[in-house]
Amino acid sequence: HADVAMYAAKARGRNNFQFFTHEMNRISDERLRLEAAMRVALEQDGFSIAFQPKVDHRRRIVGAEALARWHTKDFGTVPPDCFIPIAEETGLIVPLTEIILRKAFAAASKWSQTPGHAITVAVNLSPRLFLDGKIVEHVARLISEAGLPPEHVELEITESIFLGDSGRTLSILKGLKQLGVALVMDDFGTGYSSLSYIRRFPLDIIKIDKSLVTGIEYEDDGAMIARAIISLCQSLRKTVVAEGLENQAQFDFLRYQGCDEFQGYLISKPLPEQEFADLLIASGGQL
Ligand code: C2E
Ligand code: MG
Ligand code: MG
Ligand code: MG
Repeated sequence: HADVAMYAAKARGRNNFQFFTHEMNRISDERLRLEAAMRVALEQDGFSIAFQPKVDHRRRIVGAEALARWHTKDFGTVPPDCFIPIAEETGLIVPLTEIILRKAFAAASKWSQTPGHAITVAVNLSPRLFLDGKIVEHVARLISEAGLPPEHVELEITESIFLGDSGRTLSILKGLKQLGVALVMDDFGTGYSSLSYIRRFPLDIIKIDKSLVTGIEYEDDGAMIARAIISLCQSLRKTVVAEGLENQAQFDFLRYQGCDEFQGYLISKPLPEQEFADLLIASGGQL
C-alpha cells in the first residue's frame, strides 16, 4: 500500500506526498488504538453477541447465528468487518472466539430448556484458529461446560480455510465432526469456490453467499448459480441455506428451487440476546 500511495502522491506533486504519509500514519495509529481498546474489551467483557434467526421453508425458526458485536465509548459501534481482521492479525481472535463460543453456547443451552424450541446455534470460526492445534479440545470443553447437546452446534468456516495446509485442515474438521457438531461452509460462491471442497471435506451445510442472493429475483447469473448450487447440494445430500434475503421474491424463488433454510433481514435482523429469546417465545417459533 505504501508504494501505491507514494506513486500516487509523486504523480500529483510534493505537497500531496506529505498528505499521503500523514494519512497513512493516521490509519496505522487508529489501528493501534483499536487493538489496545480490543485488549481492554476482552478483559472487561466488552463484547456481546447478536443472534440472527434462520428459518425453514415454513418460516419456522431452526437456528440462530451468533454475530460478534462491539460497542465502544471512543469509537462508537465498531463493525465485525473492521475488528475481526485486526483480531486475526494480532492473534486476539483466539480469546475473542473463546468468549463468543462461551456466550453463544450459554444462550443456546437456555433456549433448549424452553420446551418445543430445539434450535441450533452457529458460530463463525476464522481460518486463523486452525493454526491453533487445540481448537478441537477447546470446542469440546466449551460444549460440555455449557451442557449443550453437540447436535445443537454449527460451526461456520469460509473457503479461505482451504488455502492453508489441507491435510491439517482435514484432520481438524474430522476432529470437530467427531464431537457431533455440524460444519457449515459459509459465504459459498465467493472467493476460492471449488466444488472439490464439498466432496473432500466433511461439510454438512452449504450457505449460499448474500452476493448471489442479491438480484436473484431477476433470474440473473446469480440466480442460475444459486440454482446449480442447490441442485448439487441435493444430489450430495447436504443442507443448503441462503443468507442475505431481503425480499419475498428472493424467498419464493429459493424455496421453489428447493433451498432448505433461509436467513436475512426479510426474516429478521440480528437481535440482542434478550430480544431474540423474547421473539422465540412470542412468535411460537414461527416468523
Ligand atoms: P457472515 O458470517 O456471512 O454473517 C452475515 C452478515 O450479513 C452479518 O454481518 C449479518 O448482519 C449480515 N446480514 C444478515 N442478513 C442480511 C441481509 O438481509 N442484508 C444485508 N445487507 N446483510 C445481512 P455482520 O454481523 O456485520 O458480520 C460480518 C461478518 O463478520 C460475518 O459474515 C462474519 O464473517 C464475521 N463475523 C461476525 N462475527 C464473527 C465472529 O464471532 N467470529 C468470526 N471469526 N467472524 C465473525
Ligand atoms: Mg456466518
Ligand atoms: Mg455468511
Ligand atoms: Mg456473508
